[in-house]
Amino acid sequence: MPFDTPASGAYGATLTIDLAALVSNWRLLGERAGTEAGAVVKADAYGIGIEPAVTALARAGCRSFFVAHVSEGIRARSVAPDATIYVLNGLLPGNCDVYAQHGLSPVLGSHEELLEWASFRQTGAKVRPAALHVDTAMNRLGLWAGEGLNLAREKSGAIAAADIGLVMSHFASSEVETDPANARQIAAFAEIAAALPGIPASLKNSSGHFLEGCPSYQLTRPGYALYGGNPTPGQPNPMQPVIGLQARIIQIRKVEGGTQVGYNGRWTAKGKRKLATICLGYADGYPRNGSWTDSVAGGSALLDGVVCPFVGSVSMDLIIIDVSDAPASAAQRGASVTLIGGALDLEAVGAGAKTIGYEILTSLGRRYARRYVGL
Ligand SMILES: *Cc1c(COP(=O)(O)O)cnc(C)c1O
Repeated sequence: MPFDTPASGAYGATLTIDLAALVSNWRLLGERAGTEAGAVVKADAYGIGIEPAVTALARAGCRSFFVAHVSEGIRARSVAPDATIYVLNGLLPGNCDVYAQHGLSPVLGSHEELLEWASFRQTGAKVRPAALHVDTAMNRLGLWAGEGLNLAREKSGAIAAADIGLVMSHFASSEVETDPANARQIAAFAEIAAALPGIPASLKNSSGHFLEGCPSYQLTRPGYALYGGNPTPGQPNPMQPVIGLQARIIQIRKVEGGTQVGYNGRWTAKGKRKLATICLGYADGYPRNGSWTDSVAGGSALLDGVVCPFVGSVSMDLIIIDVSDAPASAAQRGASVTLIGGALDLEAVGAGAKTIGYEILTSLGRRYARRYVGL
């Protein structure tokens, strides 16, 4: 596959990325929504690689992509010449030109941005339609809802001058189905969408697809679930896993009870243990917060399906794991262990490192071999 890292013997760990699973996840979300599903491919497509992800999704028929930065939009454009590419972070002052040059669509997040874009258009610049972000809870980006409504009611005002092709808002806690903020956001956005008839609207992120009573409008914006993350935390994951991370064992050793292991001796063996050192560390994007000390639990790996907890600090290039419970035939120099995959799904890995699956994905390193399958 053209996106693969060459010469896998040169690497101590391998990330496998299943682009067919990515495409099935995108199809599943589109079917669930009953409308067009876009794809959020910001942050290097949540770590899996923006060019391969956009290539696979565009081939499958995805026409709308969302990135955070212009630089990401330019990369997406290089493999999707016809797609609509929205840049979520919006318009930095004086940046209209670069949007025009690459055919990118800013997601305008304030009245100032709206006016700047409208006046740029009036210079006769050839641009694609922009999107308008209306804030219904986050207080992060977007016109506040009342401001959005006022502008919407000005028939020939800034919104018309800016040629808005999409109006959108973003959920603050859609993964928590019972959070009353969801219904408030759904109602606030319904009012905005109704005030802008004829302009396509977009509200659902990944978890939004699973919220009762949330309209799909004309376009959805899933990110995390495309990459196999669970949009319904606490319930079975409806998505297919997209990534698997394996690292090789470089060395096995046996230690006696009382032996301290790793930097600063933060972990002490409670009895005889068999330890394995694996070729992956925090410089590969595995959070150091996955360290396992005498008082704090951390991450783990799977060897032959057996859970092997980390031992001591996650170091820059290496992690030590306890393989005492794995079959002796499997615990060998050169064997591969799983860091992400199977029972170690993104949510479990995130929990072991005291963070969320989103951060595990977007931290995926650039130092191991990457193998793309399924395109
Ligand atoms: C990141 C982002 C999304 C995607 O969210 P997921 O929870 O990953 O599906 C959608 N919309 C906006 C505005 C975002 O910033």
